Amino acid sequence: MTRIPLVGGNWKMHLDGQGAAALASDISRSSGSIEGEVELAIFPPHPYLSMVSAAIGGSGVHLGGQDVSDEPSGAFTGQVSTSMLIDCGCSITLIGHSERRHGLGEQDELLARKVRIALDGGLRVLLCVGETLEERDQGRTFDTVIGQVRGSLDAVTLDDMSRVELAYEPVWAIGTGRTAGPAEAQEVHAALRSELCSRYDARSAARIRILYGGSVKPANAAELMACEDIDGALVGGASLQAESFLDIARATARRE
Ligand code: PEP
Repeated sequence: MTRIPLVGGNWKMHLDGQGAAALASDISRSSGSIEGEVELAIFPPHPYLSMVSAAIGGSGVHLGGQDVSDEPSGAFTGQVSTSMLIDCGCSITLIGHSERRHGLGEQDELLARKVRIALDGGLRVLLCVGETLEERDQGRTFDTVIGQVRGSLDAVTLDDMSRVELAYEPVWAIGTGRTAGPAEAQEVHAALRSELCSRYDARSAARIRILYGGSVKPANAAELMACEDIDGALVGGASLQAESFLDIARATARRE
């Protein structure tokens, strides 16, 4: 089954409003040349979502939240709900990024509630999983990422899976300049797809995109994206400049 790759730019807590709108305009202006070959999504800081939504206009670049609340509304200071993200123009949200799992201690049980509420409210979900260096060194990579998938997708049905994508992001590769080698990444992606196959079915496992994230740059994108089970990239640092983000997208679009 052919999967159109997805390349996402996670802007984290970078940029100001003007810079975010300018970056979004630059990306969307150039996105037409790779339309149909790769999908693009950008994940700006929440306060800039509406500005960025206006800047991307009808270009086809998807807009996403970096996180979403597990509650629909109410007294939850600082949180942002699914309907708020949709109001601001989002069609997708990240859930379980390592800076929330490991940085803020978010556990699978909470992430499963976020996944459920986001899907119920009409968003697509890009669920992030990944092992720490310690877990990798102890030979626990597969157990860790498969455990995260099982825990975070606890309440997700086969029907829901048409709106779920995964990102494998080894924690030791995020923002460190260290990347998993293509073979190292491919074996985890293949294990994740096989887990999806036993948990759901072969058809949905073959359709779901599994992105790689962790220090992806224009220089290493092509070899990673050429792997059979790598269906795009989630990019942090290199997504903050339109040219490097688009170079990664072009390398992904050209994958053999
Ligand atoms: C990320 O934040 O998801 C990420 C992969 O960051 P970086 O590309 O900077 O490693």
